[in-house]
Amino acid sequence: MNFHNVEFIKSAAASAGILQDELPQIVFAGKSNVGKSSVINKVLNRKNFARVGGTPGKTVHINFFLIDKTAYFVDLPGYGYAKVAKTEKTRWRGLMESYFSSAEHIALGILIVDSRHKPTQDDVTMCNWFKQTLCPLVIVANKIDKLKKSEESGNLALIRETLELGDEVKVIPFSAEKGTNRDVLLSEIENAVKNWYN
Ligand code: GDP
Repeated sequence: MNFHNVEFIKSAAASAGILQDELPQIVFAGKSNVGKSSVINKVLNRKNFARVGGTPGKTVHINFFLIDKTAYFVDLPGYGYAKVAKTEKTRWRGLMESYFSSAEHIALGILIVDSRHKPTQDDVTMCNWFKQTLCPLVIVANKIDKLKKSEESGNLALIRETLELGDEVKVIPFSAEKGTNRDVLLSEIENAVKNWYN
């Protein structure tokens, strides 16, 4: 994959719109404002492909992007925004249930958390959705540029502990702003797609 050919395919607001075909899916999840759009744009080397910095939590839908005709990037709706109406939270849960009810298409789950803070209860819930599928999983600890060097290892350990990660799950210190460890995340994605096809 060289990420040269990136196509927005569709946005699904209900279970009927969820795209599932023979191609592997790389799934991005994270709370509102964690930098999920920025991480996706950084991976794709695009400035504004995934929408950055809109009103958080307004749009409960799943976006599907086709990458090099080989795999989908799946952008799950952000969660955890306090001001979201209860009906939207219920819709979020319903959409997640639909998406994860048929999870054999997931080649890799990418859970993005804020490296500055202990993961939230919603992050733990999201992590458990991934764990239930038994798909490969990596954690992206974003906004690492906002941490002091001396804080890094403690914060990464807290993330690992709070999410109760097995040793096989990598926690990647990442900065969508600076591009820190973009190459590490790229190779995780490429390996996952390769393994899927093998
Ligand atoms: P989303 O709601 O999760 O899609 O988050 P966005 O990608 O819209 O980013 C939310 C805000 O965080 C924006 O102001 C971004 O510029 C900022 N941001 C995203 N990633 C980073 C990062 O790695 N470092 C810093 N310092 N800011 C970031």
